[in-house]
Amino acid sequence: MSRSWRAPILPGATVGVLGSGQLGRMFAIAARRMGYRVHTFSPDDDTPTGQVADLEIKASYDDLDAVRRFAQSVSVVTFEFENVSSAATAAAAEFAPARPSGEVLHITQHRRREKTFLRDQGFPVTQFEVVNSLDQLPHAIAELGLPAVLKSAGFGYDGKGQARIHSDTDLAAAYQQAGGGECVLEAFVDFECEFSVVAARALDGGFAHYGAVENEHSNHILDVTTAPASIPAEAARTAIQITRGVLEALDVVGVLCVEFFLERSGRVLINELAPRPHNSGHFTFDACVTSQFEQQLRAICGLSLGSTELLRPAAMANLLGDLWANGEPNWQAVTALPDVKLHLYGKASPRPGRKMGHLTAMAPDAEEAAERVRMARDLLTSR
Ligand code: AMP
Repeated sequence: MSRSWRAPILPGATVGVLGSGQLGRMFAIAARRMGYRVHTFSPDDDTPTGQVADLEIKASYDDLDAVRRFAQSVSVVTFEFENVSSAATAAAAEFAPARPSGEVLHITQHRRREKTFLRDQGFPVTQFEVVNSLDQLPHAIAELGLPAVLKSAGFGYDGKGQARIHSDTDLAAAYQQAGGGECVLEAFVDFECEFSVVAARALDGGFAHYGAVENEHSNHILDVTTAPASIPAEAARTAIQITRGVLEALDVVGVLCVEFFLERSGRVLINELAPRPHNSGHFTFDACVTSQFEQQLRAICGLSLGSTELLRPAAMANLLGDLWANGEPNWQAVTALPDVKLHLYGKASPRPGRKMGHLTAMAPDAEEAAERVRMARDLLTSR
């Protein structure tokens, strides 16, 4: 390429986002606040990102000419959705730097590739076996023991394409539930808690992290994040070191989240990676000097990373479509709370399990922040 892609991309430039959900929306808000223009590309319109972007392109990710035209209109392309094909990333990269790179997406969008990469690089991951057919499942179970979790290798998120296997589980049904194709069988981890580290790596290799934050899931979907996590300092230090190592090994430019299990023995294990701002980092929008979204912008534009300082202990609770079951939530009740921030993503139909928004509460300590955010969410369904 004749063009130098190392020069900083400064305010006034246009950044392109492949994907159009809430992550792109919050990224676009951060970018526009700093005077950048934002174009978004996805197969939908009137999207969470499109509603706040300068330009919303509706086209298929497989329409490589449309991807090329999109990349020609921006100074840098980033992703808010990691399941973009390698062909689309390569098409974009012909005309603008793609950050993170297509290689990072290729590895992290597929469980076998991701787990194999991590294991080969010496990072601690859950024990796993690759399962390519129902016939291979008994052998994998014999290797790992039960209980175990069968997960589809590709395109899984929020527990979709997963099946728990116990001694009395119908293996054929479990294999179907996991998608019936290439799968990874994981040993079941009897964890103390789940936590994550959201971090960023700049174009010049600079590194910044938001510390360890604790995650509680409900039905496999993140429910509440509390910052900072109440885990032993040694476990948090180890996890941050691992996170830095992962960003360096993958040569990431941008934000990446590492989700961890804390085992009862005190050992930390990587569950999975997300090569982008993450739901467990949403609290940073309100509670940190630099949000994960601004950090993503800074990294992909070749700027210095901002301070990740946590201004006050905070907790985030997701608002799923289920909250709409009996009508519009009670917004007035929650907006009456002075230390609680409401975020809604502009999605029209509140389906059960769909992430519609979140609340962030701040308090003198993390435990109180978590109590406040749960209490605030309960108020939404009060009349
Ligand atoms: P994932 O989509 O792989 O992050 O899985 C969603 C959730 O399922 C995790 O956050 C855990 O709560 C649970 N889970 C996934 N894998 C395992 C495992 N190997 N052992 C125990 N729980 C798991």
